[in-house]
Amino acid sequence: MNPQSEENLVLQNTITPFNQSGLTFAVIPDTYLGSLSDLYRYDAIVVRCTSLMLTRQLILSIRSVVRNNVFLKPLYLLSSHNHGTATFSLLIDGVVRDFQDLSTLTRNISSLNDQVSQIRPMIGIEKEKSSLIAFLVFNHSRQIKKMEPVPDRESKMGFYYPILSKIDSIGTGGRSSFDLLDQAEKEGLITGQFSHSGYLCSECLGGFLQYREVCPGCQSSDLRTEELVHHFRCAHVAPKSEFSRSNPSQPLQCPKCHHQLKHIGVDFDKPSSIHHCQQCHGDFQNYWVKAKCLDCGHDQKVEYLVKKIFKEYELTEYGREWIEEGQYFTNQIKNKMVADSMTWDAFVQSVGFHVSEGKRGRNFLVTVSFDNYAEVAGQIGKENELRFLEEIMQMIKASQHTADIRTVKVPHIYFTLFSIEEDEAEAIARRTVFLINHLIRDNLGIGRNVIRYTCEELTHSYLQAWNQALTMTKPEAK
Ligand SMILES: [Zn+2]
Ligand SMILES: [Zn+2]
Ligand SMILES: [Zn+2]
Repeated sequence: MNPQSEENLVLQNTITPFNQSGLTFAVIPDTYLGSLSDLYRYDAIVVRCTSLMLTRQLILSIRSVVRNNVFLKPLYLLSSHNHGTATFSLLIDGVVRDFQDLSTLTRNISSLNDQVSQIRPMIGIEKEKSSLIAFLVFNHSRQIKKMEPVPDRESKMGFYYPILSKIDSIGTGGRSSFDLLDQAEKEGLITGQFSHSGYLCSECLGGFLQYREVCPGCQSSDLRTEELVHHFRCAHVAPKSEFSRSNPSQPLQCPKCHHQLKHIGVDFDKPSSIHHCQQCHGDFQNYWVKAKCLDCGHDQKVEYLVKKIFKEYELTEYGREWIEEGQYFTNQIKNKMVADSMTWDAFVQSVGFHVSEGKRGRNFLVTVSFDNYAEVAGQIGKENELRFLEEIMQMIKASQHTADIRTVKVPHIYFTLFSIEEDEAEAIARRTVFLINHLIRDNLGIGRNVIRYTCEELTHSYLQAWNQALTMTKPEAK
């Protein structure tokens, strides 16, 4: 991919790669209508903004591509405006004015991508559930603690939860996204706090309503309202117009007893108002208040509107673990399923046992980490993932002694090199990782190394710390 000059990045219906500071950006115009699933190949996405409406559409679309975790990619707007108040502002990672600005983002992008690479792609999860997960994962990855409903004209209820609502079956911010949140709250993944309440159409739960007073007889809102006048002297009560004189500067005169009404409180008072319908000519003291839904047209008395409580949500500790451990991934590869690897618990115990036994020689632990497991897993496909990990196990096994053990905890693979000298351990680790990289590159056509490794001695104190840290993050036993 050659660096492109700024001038070449004109509005085209294509994704244009742009290299800056060692990162490859995907530059797309907001008019882009092509496929978005290839965006996972880039380090970050830059949307060139020409129209707020188009930009909003495109951003919502990108943030709903769960395949290969495209929705989690760092995403920036290229625009001369700030857009801080735009309803999509929570969905972008920043605004840049020109291509030079991109160089200042390198560190943010790398740390975001580091986090994102830990998150397993969602394969084989039904749409509704994946949208909830995407919502939680996205907010977690952006360290958004309070997930609030955002006011939005384009959303059915007038509010939406970014990410979640887009994937909603109704469109944006419909009923099912709220159901999903209720469900997640019941499951203890999130806790909800009252944010605000409002009224919705009883027919379609639309939030855009037009309120007005109507005639209880014919439902017309073509009303004229007049004060009622009560003449104390003769007790006559009638609309004010019946007391009026042709010359408005003259005092009111009673149509019944023909006396003048000079002082309010002394001669007369105004007990209430009267409404006159200019369609059916009915007079009445109490009108109805109706709300007409601008979406479905349903016109209802306000008593029948549906009261909706909007909540802001926070991830619970359990919810955080649920996300970080990828427990939502029902078909996830459990380490016990990978042949020739130990379960996590057994691995930790065996390592502890072996080291405390104090056999001769030194003991080392090699940690192999995928830079972007999501990308690799996405390419090999769910069906092949297990076989792929087993091949790696075989490679590792071939370079170990018989007493050594292995375990998988994506995006990491751990293996031991017991009773060995440091030079030898380092050489074995380097060679093994070289072979694994080769396997991946050959099979997947990824033109760079996708794993890193560390080789550390399993001293007693190291093991203690390691054990502690791992117990804290270890997947819940089922
Ligand atoms: Zn009427
Ligand atoms: Zn009178
Ligand atoms: Zn409606």
